[in-house]
Amino acid sequence: MPKTVVMKFGGTSVGSVPALENVIQIVGDTRQKWPQSVVVTSALSGVTNLLLEGSQRALDGDTEFIAQTEAQLLERHQAIANELIPDNDQRAAVMQDIGGLIDTFGDLCRAIAVLGHSTSQSIDAVASLGERMSVRLLAAALRSHGLDAQSIEASDLIVTDDRFQAAHPDFELTAQKVQAGLQPLFDQGCVPVVTGFLAATEDGIITTLGRGGSDYTAAILGATMEADEVWIWTDVDGVMSSDPRVVPDAQTIEELSYREVSELAHFGAKVLHPKTIRPVVEAGITLRVLNTFNASHPGTQIVHKRDASANGSIKAVTAIKDQRMITIEGRGMLGVPGVAARAFGAVAAIDESVILISQASSEQSICFALHAQAADRVITALEQAFAAELQIRDIDRIWATEDVVIVTVVGAGMRNIPGIAGSLFTALGQEKLNVIAIAQGSSEVSISFIVSADDVEDALRAVHSLIK
Ligand code: ASP
Ligand code: MG
Repeated sequence: MPKTVVMKFGGTSVGSVPALENVIQIVGDTRQKWPQSVVVTSALSGVTNLLLEGSQRALDGDTEFIAQTEAQLLERHQAIANELIPDNDQRAAVMQDIGGLIDTFGDLCRAIAVLGHSTSQSIDAVASLGERMSVRLLAAALRSHGLDAQSIEASDLIVTDDRFQAAHPDFELTAQKVQAGLQPLFDQGCVPVVTGFLAATEDGIITTLGRGGSDYTAAILGATMEADEVWIWTDVDGVMSSDPRVVPDAQTIEELSYREVSELAHFGAKVLHPKTIRPVVEAGITLRVLNTFNASHPGTQIVHKRDASANGSIKAVTAIKDQRMITIEGRGMLGVPGVAARAFGAVAAIDESVILISQASSEQSICFALHAQAADRVITALEQAFAAELQIRDIDRIWATEDVVIVTVVGAGMRNIPGIAGSLFTALGQEKLNVIAIAQGSSEVSISFIVSADDVEDALRAVHSLIK
């Protein structure tokens, strides 16, 4: 079996001429060793936002903005084509296609402006245009540099349901289409350059996989092709042990398990979305996060399960800001059945989600964290849900803290090793940092605690100093 790799490039990797020069180099080098190389690309950085803003402003009848956006889209793509597609005819052909897509943008937005109404379906038609433009540009740039490449629209490969803006793939139908669509290209020695982010329903209507969905595209293609590896090319050296702006000695994590990645993503680190990488990791495909701007760096490898002997150390520390702790307290709660269930039911009923639940030592209070913006609504909902108990003082008080931060320490198996929790809280104590609450992570691979918003940077640095 020839070796197959899927390489996904994010918006910054294709957002400028120097970045694209790196991409061309990377694809060329990879192609030498991997006879079946597939490229997936995002839109040029900022383009999806611009398209979506266009469709939003169209709702208010802002046709001026639509015209400005058309000009801007043309200019961004043209400037890159001028540098990277030297042949006049080839450049003209690509820019004609891109111009047609920009016209589609204008038509769709003006229709939205006239109707004063848009649907998720029409928003996907607009949002997907960025990738439809970028694949054409990148494929032509690759051809100009001697690589046989062809742009492909993922609407011909990936079949989803019709949940527009967050569509879900049908892996079986997709596998058939991927095989039929890509194999002939491989046989010709050609590199397919596939649109990230978008897909289509069985009827061929364009859908998108949700913001940042190009990673998911790469994962879906990797899983359905049974690729050997999937590489996510971005603009940092893989997944970092903390935010380097706060923790100067943050470093790349060489290897992370799927559960560790999920935990990091849940607790605010900007890494791969767990949903997107699951198909790849479950299929045992090697997944790497690499840096387009530092291609020789080994980056981070995501593995299904880690070797048990390697477990037990702290891998990363991350923070979610703008949280508040809500406490329900009262001496009479001890006897009241189902308080927790009713509390979380009331929160869910207003569509808010609880990020973390703290373990109270007695049954006289329940404490949980959620986004600060939600706090007032949640308290009102809880006061309604527990009106009777508040009346008879079984519950004394339902209240929220000031803004706090959840700090999460991630590392598989860490919670089973008593010394680590000890050294963690010792380190915080030495810095005189007050821990407001300690919480249960959503799996065994993390410990979370809450500190006041003022202490977050010190807390991150104190914990990070424990990483070996
Ligand atoms: N271009 C899309 C977005 O900005 C998808 C992606 O970049 O992953 O959300
Ligand atoms: Mg992205």
